[in-house]
Amino acid sequence: MSEQNLPTQENAMGLVFTEWFPESTGLSFRIVQTIESAQSPLQMIELYETETHGKLLVMDGCVMLTERDEVAYHEMIVHVPLLSHPNPKRVLVIGGGDGGTLREVVRHPSVELARQVEIDGEVVRICKEHLPKIAAAYDNPKVDLIIGDGIEHVKTAPDGSYDIVLIDSTDPFGPALGLFGEEFYRNVDRILADDGIMVCQAESAWYNMPMLKVIVETLQKIFPVVKTFSSQIPVYPSGTWSFGYASKGIDPVADVDQERAEPIEEGGQYYNRDLHKAAFAQPSFVKRELGL
Ligand code: SAM
Repeated sequence: MSEQNLPTQENAMGLVFTEWFPESTGLSFRIVQTIESAQSPLQMIELYETETHGKLLVMDGCVMLTERDEVAYHEMIVHVPLLSHPNPKRVLVIGGGDGGTLREVVRHPSVELARQVEIDGEVVRICKEHLPKIAAAYDNPKVDLIIGDGIEHVKTAPDGSYDIVLIDSTDPFGPALGLFGEEFYRNVDRILADDGIMVCQAESAWYNMPMLKVIVETLQKIFPVVKTFSSQIPVYPSGTWSFGYASKGIDPVADVDQERAEPIEEGGQYYNRDLHKAAFAQPSFVKRELGL
């Protein structure tokens, strides 16, 4: 938590939670009620009922999701890679303790194994108890939940054991720091099959270009295809969030599976094939900065 990220404060608006972004801007929510405030051995986890965005999950002072717009994150981190891959069967999710990514993964009939490695069991407990529409897939028979460190898991998993790896992590500090490093990505490459795809959350191009650049440059040392795509997530810093895409050959725009995409679009709130393509179009300053 940054020094500016003080806990919720009472002011003339009532109880207000503010996440302070870099460059002294921030986003505030009027809070109706604090549902949970738990210090796990790894991080501070807070859950609030807001006046306008449903429940708000906060970890170490950073907004993780709100019920109102979580689909913009979870549908894009999952459906872009899974519909680019011809037959995704074995999917690994690292982090993602709220369960939203898993919920979207199990909507794909081809998936046989949706394994999640989340380091903090307390996140899973809180989300299962209070966010049942997001933590909706934990009882699905395809799901294998491991409470453990994703960095260790990718070190020890066998070569070629996953078709898709999704890195749904917190920001690059604390337990998530190693999820942004070269050794970690090299192991992801090793445990992916020959047509494997990796997607990671990659911060805000407006507020954290240095991090996005490091992610892209590191991935470029390892994977032949590296791109970034974005999603509009109103409650994240700047409202536009980046994802890193890396594959051993599959192009995420040319190879979208039209037939499998239809039911995913119909049953969802955010993802569609037009957005899938458009998400890879990046502003000029991003293209220039990343050399893509
Ligand atoms: N969708 C939201 C976002 O991107 O901000 C929320 C992501 S989810 C809550 C992030 C999860 O990553 C957290 O629950 C955190 O415990 C987990 N995490 C952080 N470091 C990890 C690691 N090394 N291995 C596995 N999970 C990790």
